[in-house]
Amino acid sequence: MKLIGAHVSAAGGVFNAPENAAKIGANAFALFTKNQRQWVAKPLEQDVIIAFKARCQQYEFKSEAILPHDSYLINLGNPETEKLEKSRAAFIDEMQRCNQLGLTLLNFHPGSHLKKISESDCLRLIAESINMAHQEVPDVVAVIENTAGQGSNLGWRFEHLAEIIEQVEDKSRVGVCIDTCHTFAAGYDLRSESATEATFAEFDQTVGMSFLRGMHLNDSKGKLGSHLDRHHSLGEGEIGWDCFRYLMQDSRFDNIPLVLETINPDIWQQEIMTLRSFVANE
Ligand SMILES: [Zn+2]
Ligand SMILES: [Zn+2]
Repeated sequence: MKLIGAHVSAAGGVFNAPENAAKIGANAFALFTKNQRQWVAKPLEQDVIIAFKARCQQYEFKSEAILPHDSYLINLGNPETEKLEKSRAAFIDEMQRCNQLGLTLLNFHPGSHLKKISESDCLRLIAESINMAHQEVPDVVAVIENTAGQGSNLGWRFEHLAEIIEQVEDKSRVGVCIDTCHTFAAGYDLRSESATEATFAEFDQTVGMSFLRGMHLNDSKGKLGSHLDRHHSLGEGEIGWDCFRYLMQDSRFDNIPLVLETINPDIWQQEIMTLRSFVANE
């Protein structure tokens, strides 16, 4: 089954996210479990946790359809010790919040070397950070998102993702989220069905499809290889519909959250309906 949704608002409390997702016809969603621009959040209260779980049950969202996203401040590959420790503590807290909410995935951007250490040293720090979080928190899978490669951000080449995974001890608790906009901006073509097929063949060879635990479905304002992280509504950017039609018709993308982070929430419901129409055409 295709699990399609969007990164919905959790304003007023995380328990509002499932309802916001259900309203737009989603059967998957993403959310922040705390303010994504702050380091520290107050712990989740027991009644909030209970309300979140009850709403998920009410709207039939299972944990495998929910892809929480961590704070943008966290850099698990930060070359400066003090800042790295702060990021690791915040990441462990994010993972704990997921665990408390009964969620099993945590999506995050791998990190950046800030031009102070080598790529492989940075990738090693990221893998170490994941290993540390695994030791602190049970059950939650660390889902590394590929990036557009803006600035000194790593994770834009599939090889980066593979190099991190290689150094993670518990392979059952590490996965990947492929963002179509980031993939395209990183230089992997998605503008036709054959190009999309070739890109995922390369992903499968380098990382392995078995590690794919979620996707972000976004069109791209930036051109192929531009390294610009600028999302667009589906079909309106440089990628076009062929890629999204391909994903909907391929069973390798079943049963993982497929999450819109497109720029116009007013048309998310329409975008979800269009995606579903491709599935029906199979
Ligand atoms: Zn994304
Ligand atoms: Zn992005």
